[in-house]
Amino acid sequence: MTYLLRDPLPEFRRTPLAVRSEADPVIVMAGEKVLLIGPRSAQPALPRWADFARELGPQAESRTVASLSGGGSMQLAFWPEQQALPAGWGAERVRNLLFLLREPELQLALLGQQYGHFLRTHRFCGACGGATMPHEKELAQHCSACKRDLYPQIAPCMITLIHDGPRIVLTRARHFPKGMYGLSAGFVEAGESLEHCVLREVREETALEVKNVRYIASQPWPMPSQLMVGFFAEYAAGELTPDLEELEEAAWFDLGSLPGLPPPMSIAKFLIDTYIEEFQRGA
Ligand SMILES: [Zn+2]
Repeated sequence: MTYLLRDPLPEFRRTPLAVRSEADPVIVMAGEKVLLIGPRSAQPALPRWADFARELGPQAESRTVASLSGGGSMQLAFWPEQQALPAGWGAERVRNLLFLLREPELQLALLGQQYGHFLRTHRFCGACGGATMPHEKELAQHCSACKRDLYPQIAPCMITLIHDGPRIVLTRARHFPKGMYGLSAGFVEAGESLEHCVLREVREETALEVKNVRYIASQPWPMPSQLMVGFFAEYAAGELTPDLEELEEAAWFDLGSLPGLPPPMSIAKFLIDTYIEEFQRGA
């Protein structure tokens, strides 16, 4: 069992001091979209520096983001959002990259767009309003006026499987595809531990009380900046009552008769599969 983005980025070092080569991947952002090259009907790919320099170069702004330990670097570039693209190039919403690219290219693309999103939204210092410039050594921006360093912000989110022996709680958010159920999830709020967030979100979404909150796995979800933290939580008390402002439905399901579940590479599916395996083992 595995899930998307579980493995560390291969051949990757976060140092912006690399020599650029023709074959280096370039993450080109057009607004919040990412440019791919090649027909969608085939397998589109991240452009390489040679493609970028030949077809977009003079019109796009670029910078080195990181070096790849196998040699070369990862580049990040910005394409004017309103400008037409050359033939063979397409702008994709970040979520679509999950279906169009494979790891490790997908990991590079998601990291690049997360950093690109940060740069787009941190051109000026939030404290003094001064213009920011790239940090000399780190993936960060530096304010030359008040000397603050700004880093990409990560937003932790919890996702929880609520279990009670042979049954688990599954929920349906309104935006889910028809027939698909998932797990209780929500953003960590200021001043909360992850465990407190689990208790609060579960209570808010389902009116259930849970105990024995147990960390299982995490997944970077940089769309634009979440970190999903997955837990098991044991049912303790309460009558399942979904919060219909947030959810369309929430219900108990027996492990032997589960409905449509999230796709195989999601951490939600990983949590469900892991629980089934543990339960069957009698753990
Ligand atoms: Zn400043």
